Amino acid sequence: MMVFPHLPWLIATDNDPALMADFAILCAFGGRLSGSGQDSAALNWALGRLRAAGARATRLDVPYDGWRCLRASLALAGPRAAALSCWPLLRSASTAAGGLEAQVVDLGPGRQSDFARLGGRLRGRIALVCHEYPYAAGHVHHHRKYDMAVAAGAAGFLIANPWEGGGLLAGWSARPRGTAGIPAASVDHASARRLSRAAQAGPARVRMVVEGEETPRARAGVGVADLPGGRDGWIVISAHVDGLDLGNSALDNASGVAVALAAARALARRVGPSTPGLRICLFTAKEWGLAGSARYLAQMGDGERNSLKLNINLDTVAGDDSLTALTSGFPGLPALVRRAGDVASLPIGVHEPLMPDSDHASFACHGIPALRLLAGFERPASRARAVLGANDRTSIVKEDELQRALRATCAMAGLAMALSDAELANLAERS
Ligand SMILES: [Zn+2]
Repeated sequence: MMVFPHLPWLIATDNDPALMADFAILCAFGGRLSGSGQDSAALNWALGRLRAAGARATRLDVPYDGWRCLRASLALAGPRAAALSCWPLLRSASTAAGGLEAQVVDLGPGRQSDFARLGGRLRGRIALVCHEYPYAAGHVHHHRKYDMAVAAGAAGFLIANPWEGGGLLAGWSARPRGTAGIPAASVDHASARRLSRAAQAGPARVRMVVEGEETPRARAGVGVADLPGGRDGWIVISAHVDGLDLGNSALDNASGVAVALAAARALARRVGPSTPGLRICLFTAKEWGLAGSARYLAQMGDGERNSLKLNINLDTVAGDDSLTALTSGFPGLPALVRRAGDVASLPIGVHEPLMPDSDHASFACHGIPALRLLAGFERPASRARAVLGANDRTSIVKEDELQRALRATCAMAGLAMALSDAELANLAERS
């Protein structure tokens, strides 16, 4: 490895024993689903870690559309009756008492063309579509597929794990509070295959039961930890603490939070009279349509929002040895990322278009230069594909992956802290 003698502090980040220890503690809180209390407890613990690093840490709580599942089941009906395995999507509509029985229609991948081909024949039926590897430029998110099913008049929505032996998946249905929506759940690979075969053999009916309830006055915690510099403005490192409840949300996103905590420790000594400040933002309710970060940015005054000069969002930064920055359409960011890759002695790929799949999008939509660092972009065979499922557990993450993400993060933030006010302002220019 090529060592840059002027950046020994960056190389020293490889020797932070708390990186892996913090990661394991975060996983031990559980899946950290917002509303479970695990996300809130993990956030409070993480804020304590940031105070220990010298930061001024506060917590605010913002409203979001909470919901919880009371029960869910799925079965093939009729002569081939058999129980199937399912997991409701967050904020799924409830079925009527007694459940929903309807014909299932296999739409294969469930792309726009698949829905278009069916025309009106989905009306009153249950759409079966495939989940896709989410960290790829061309993927269609499951809540987009849900929206297309609703628009086509479907009565229910099932999303299948497409990989041999693959289990259930958790996710969000994007149904806003107060709207009807349709019942929505994931099915494991084996159940999806049974459904698909039954549908091929002739009209196949399934019985779907989802019973959920709104949780009124639900609040999502937002942690803000500041290390003030001598200049105005903040470089913001963010990560979401919340997760989903099938596994313990190790990749997504204990990895990002552990790296954010370690980056605060490493960068605390780099913040000084000649630099802007460093702010660490820890969000919850990210898995509920970016609710925590969106509310946080919407509720602050223009002055504070204008002081946020760059957002480096860490979401699923392990699970593969490749790292990519999604630079949200800000033309100034790719050069910063490439320089960071040089000083950190590791390649960081760049994908320029905005991908609105994590909290950086909440910053970008206010004109704040924002990027997401992630592992496994365009690597569908990587371990990163375990996100959303039961295999997203502590043991799936390798320490050297966290170390690489930490070095990349510190290099990007360290370079940004060394930019002049004019250079930072240039990052916000859009072509
Ligand atoms: Zn995530």
